[in-house]
Amino acid sequence: MASLSLYAPLEGWACSLDEVPDAVFAERMLGDGVAIDPTGDTLIAPCDARIVTVQPTGHAITLRTAEGAELLIHIGLDTVALKGEGFETLVVAGDTVTRGQPLIRFDLDRIVREARAAVTPIVVTNGDRFTIAHRATGAIVASGDPVMTLTAREAHAQPVAGGCPAATRTIVVPLPHGIHARPAARIAEVARGFDAVVTLAKDGAPVAATSPVGLLSLIVAHNDRVTIAATGAQAEAAVEAVAELILHGIKEDAAPTPPRPTPPAPRDVPAGAIAGVTAAPGLAIGTVARWDVHDLDVPPEGCGIAAEEAAFTQACAALSAELTGKAAAASGPMRAILDAHAAMLSDDALLNTARAAIADGHSAAYAWRAAIRPQADALRAGGDPRLAERADDMRDLERQLIARLMGIEDAGLTLPEGAILLAEDLLPSQFMALDLDRLAGLAIMRGGPTSHVSILAAARGVPTLVALGDALRAVAIGSRVILDAGAGWLHPVPSPETLADAEARVSAAATRRAEAFARAGEECRTADGARIELFANCGSAADADYAVRNGAEGCGLLRTELLFLDRDTAPDVAEQTADYQAVVDALDGRPLIIRLLDIGGDKPAPYLPIEGEENPALGLRGVRVVLAHPHILEDQLKAILAVRPLGRCRIMVPMIAGVDELLKVRAVLDRLTGGARDVELGVMVETPAAAIGADLLAAEADFLSIGTNDLTQYTLAMDRGNAAVAGALDGLHPAVLRLIGETVRGGALRHRWTGVCGSLASDPLAVPILLGLGVTELSVAPAAVPEIKALVRDLDLSAARDHARAALACPDAAAVRRLAREFAR
Ligand code: PEP
Ligand code: MG
Repeated sequence: MASLSLYAPLEGWACSLDEVPDAVFAERMLGDGVAIDPTGDTLIAPCDARIVTVQPTGHAITLRTAEGAELLIHIGLDTVALKGEGFETLVVAGDTVTRGQPLIRFDLDRIVREARAAVTPIVVTNGDRFTIAHRATGAIVASGDPVMTLTAREAHAQPVAGGCPAATRTIVVPLPHGIHARPAARIAEVARGFDAVVTLAKDGAPVAATSPVGLLSLIVAHNDRVTIAATGAQAEAAVEAVAELILHGIKEDAAPTPPRPTPPAPRDVPAGAIAGVTAAPGLAIGTVARWDVHDLDVPPEGCGIAAEEAAFTQACAALSAELTGKAAAASGPMRAILDAHAAMLSDDALLNTARAAIADGHSAAYAWRAAIRPQADALRAGGDPRLAERADDMRDLERQLIARLMGIEDAGLTLPEGAILLAEDLLPSQFMALDLDRLAGLAIMRGGPTSHVSILAAARGVPTLVALGDALRAVAIGSRVILDAGAGWLHPVPSPETLADAEARVSAAATRRAEAFARAGEECRTADGARIELFANCGSAADADYAVRNGAEGCGLLRTELLFLDRDTAPDVAEQTADYQAVVDALDGRPLIIRLLDIGGDKPAPYLPIEGEENPALGLRGVRVVLAHPHILEDQLKAILAVRPLGRCRIMVPMIAGVDELLKVRAVLDRLTGGARDVELGVMVETPAAAIGADLLAAEADFLSIGTNDLTQYTLAMDRGNAAVAGALDGLHPAVLRLIGETVRGGALRHRWTGVCGSLASDPLAVPILLGLGVTELSVAPAAVPEIKALVRDLDLSAARDHARAALACPDAAAVRRLAREFAR
């Protein structure tokens, strides 16, 4: 197999598993992969495959490709606790699916509100057999965009349990959600730690306990009996360890599905206010406008079957084209909703029912209502609140097609500036027709928090309350009201005090937002005027473009390895130059720090073979690789030097442990430039050796940039990829902070600036400490730029210095975090 391409199963923001706030995924306990923070609601097949398991709760699915790659896709985090609500599975175990085929539909709005996160890891669970040669992260992807490329590792046989088990034990699984992804990962981790072949069985054939996918395929629920068996030297110990883990070692709350949102308790609603259900949080004060939807009158009798048929066909075609056209131009939930409406309009059963009514002599409009309304009513009466909300979509289609057939222009509503719009019900197409610049909030008598109008409003940040009931009818048009959608109430006649309080809160929140986003383009300085360069970490020109739009003042770390990993041969000079040039162009004159290839045992490239290493983190990686492959180094330097204008580019060397490594790179650069020294050469400080020896490095380097991710792992001797130590791996550990302080001090001795490009720079609790230690450049995740800039703007550097001194004296990372939280208040 040359390579296996996997395509995005969801649309959304593709990111590294590092960004998934769950150690099981971030630490690759189930395997490596990517994650997508979804904006759509349908999971599609990332490639042709067979479905191995679909969790009964619909939140996770595993697939196996013909090449043998096993994939786990886990929609959101802790979504097992939703107990299947909001998930509709479209396939079953054993199905063969083709790339792009819908697998699971889910209620994104509900996941966003009720689960820990919607971010969806896509993981290769048999990483022992496949390497991820390329992954697209740090970018928005559409469903079906390429997202990962796998290459097969050398084949080796999977151990299977043979002969008589030396040890077995049957237990009843006490886990409230059974063996889902998290317990499966933990069990596999424990089972791998023994010199034994360990299996688990429910009713039928055993599966390898080291295979999370196999474990998931057992579909073990709460109180199911499972048998753990093992053969091999440590069989007994392995069985006991796995049994103990399942019985006592995995702490999971029963975490019942969070209740559907209900209106706040009366005591939490100010006197005179009307309680509703939060659909999209936010506080707004505005002028009441009203938009009620009344049925359009339709004549029961038609003007002849042929004419009505023709009118019906023509109206359907026109509406369908309009919906498809709007969907193509839309994105996110709006696109999904328009697509859903277009799909409903091509439902043969619905169309045939309408045509039958036309054949009975009814008008097309009457026939359409007769066909679709009973369907909507049935959904509403079915008792499932989520399906009842979908009935609104049918009403919307009913109305839109009837308006077309009757030649009625469904005129939009002219809103006053800062309108709070009240409606008995609002249809998605009506919401889409609103002038959102004038809309401050929405208050709807009926509806639910997952209706399409609610989803659209949340996506556009419009504070929205639903289910306010009949009391809303009495609110006067043109009156000034307060809508506290987060707290769940609307006040129709607020007292001057309530109004003043709400105004103060609205203006404080608006100021914060406005400062963070509107002032994101300003030069970054602390409150007492110290200049801090606020850069972003990028992997591509698209990242750089996004970063600039968020106010980044440059790119402080271009991860060039992304260009090198996606291929069978190294990129040539011209190709590299084109890539770097695209980033330079996107930065439009802002500085760019290009990191030399940071590749190694953990990120292999097929054309740079690295022998299997016992400790890849301590092996051939970073600068050591490019020094071992001088042609790679020379080509990359040549490619960088060909970029125009070169003046804003700097070069940075990763994983430096000593000055000699830097000097070797410097020698090649000098040779290529004839010693012109017209491009700065800096180092990444990622090893304790580099931090302690910063003054020595700074004598030869033009700048220092601290990679806190690696500096933390090497300082604490805790593997970034090892879940067992992940909990303690905190860059705010005083030892790491002391090394950061040492780095700044060493750099300053040689008049060199020190920046931070590791993830500590994006941590709001860490930023005051870093700046207090003397760091003058931060390179952060592109999305974090406005927030970190706003934080720096409010920071007094002398206070930050005192704070940093106190942090260095803390006994541990937890104490530093407590101190940092106090400081942030
Ligand atoms: C770091 O180590 O902090 C860093 C920025 O490099 P990477 O995360 O790519 O190893
Ligand atoms: Mg690093």
